[in-house]
Parts: sequence; C-alpha cells; structure tokens
Amino acid sequence: MCRFPLASPNLARIASNLAAAGGGVYNMFNVCAGCGIYRVDKAVTEPAGVVEPAPPNARPDFRQVTRTALAACPHCGHNHPFLRQPLLLVGGASATGKSAILQQLTGRVTAAVLLEADLLWLQEFENPTDGHRRFFETWLRLAKNIGQSGRPVVLFGAGLAVPENIEPCLERRYFSRLHYLALVCDEDELRRRLLARPAWRGSGQQRRLKEQLDFNRWLQEEGPNQSPPLTLLDTTDATIQEAADAVKDWIALLLELQAPAAP
Ligand SMILES: [Zn+2]
Repeated sequence: MCRFPLASPNLARIASNLAAAGGGVYNMFNVCAGCGIYRVDKAVTEPAGVVEPAPPNARPDFRQVTRTALAACPHCGHNHPFLRQPLLLVGGASATGKSAILQQLTGRVTAAVLLEADLLWLQEFENPTDGHRRFFETWLRLAKNIGQSGRPVVLFGAGLAVPENIEPCLERRYFSRLHYLALVCDEDELRRRLLARPAWRGSGQQRRLKEQLDFNRWLQEEGPNQSPPLTLLDTTDATIQEAADAVKDWIALLLELQAPAAP
C-alpha cells in the first residue's frame, strides 16, 4: 500500500501526467497549476501591466523591481507569473580558463548563481545526433527554476558558447536575454596548455587536441557572426586573476543593464 496516498484528484492527475511525460521528475514550474498538465512549451508574454504592488508596510523609498512575465498553458490557458531572468553563458575550448575563472569568482560574485555545467553531465546525455539537446534543456530548466529565487544564473561549460546549441531549446523562451562569452586563446599557447595537462586527461591525444584547437579557431573566426554574436575574451596573455576580473566586469555590466529602470 502506498504510504502517501494521492488523495487529491489534481495530484493524481499531475503524477499521471508526469509519468506520461516519461520524465518522472517533479518539476513544479512546468506543471500547470490550472489543469495539472506538464507542458514545457508555454506561451510567454510580458504584459506592460504586470507590476506587483508595493507591500503594505513598504518604506517610502521602496522601489518595486519586477521582471515578471506570464507563461500561458497551451492546454487550458492558465497564466503563470514568473521571473524572466537573463542567462549568462561562458564557454570555450578546454584550457582557455573556464574552470579556473569559475573557481576565482565563486563566492566573489553574489548577484548571480555561478555554476559549472559538467556538474550534471551523465553518459545518457551523450547523443551526438541531437547536439546534446537533452543536456542543454536540463540546464535551462534548472537555471529557470533557480532564477525564480531572484538571482540569474551564469553557466560555465565548453559548448555553451555556441548559440546553435541553446537557442532552439524549448526552455529558451523563459529567459529574457541570453548572453554568450567565449574564452579564446592563441593557438600555440592553447596547444602548450593542453599538452602540459596530466596524461590521464587525454588532452594531448592527437584527435582531442585537434578538436579543441578547431573549436577555439571556430570561436575566434565565427563567434562574432553568430546570432546572437559572441563576446570574445582572449586569455592568451592574461593571468587567471586578470581573466576572472574581466569576466566579473562582464557579468556586472550585463546585470546592471538588465535591471529595470527606477520608477
Ligand atoms: Zn493548464
């Protein structure tokens, strides 16, 4: 016997819909509060009138800051208000500085939640035919839910600097703007860094070396032509500290630009 019976018909419907969705993952945001159906493909709007009133005991200088948008359920039309945050993505080839910069900035940058994308990597995401789509959808869903607590996410990971990986995702619609920063490096210096890595990482293997060098070159040459265009940060001559400071400034600038103007 089930220890926690699903007494509510609505809960039973939610459970049934989740099972039908094949996920088995309980995700409140994507489950409609109106009909209980699990839908990722909600219609997102930002009506000009969606401004939350100041609380009754607010101080006179209270500034209402809102990024509230509405997600309408395609099944029943129920509108679900949510915070439509920006998403900042930092990518680049191996050895361009992603992990070291993230390590430097963790705890120093608190206006956003900084995370390493490899945290969620599982073998089951490995599917070259779909460009690792499930992996990116999973991250966008997580970032969207983290954003509901009021802070946007800055995500670090190699393939995140490629808009083609991210822009087609169903979960993309829940973010206001996506900003891409690609870390790049002079080819000789990148080769030197990769060959200096411990052998167990396999970075020096001919095929993997070529993949990283090709990816780095593609970012340098094609990054500015992507839609949206990538911002490039060349880490060839920068210390980790200097590169981290540059990323910190980039984050601060974008978050400032995204903040709604004071009334
Ligand atoms: Zn619904």
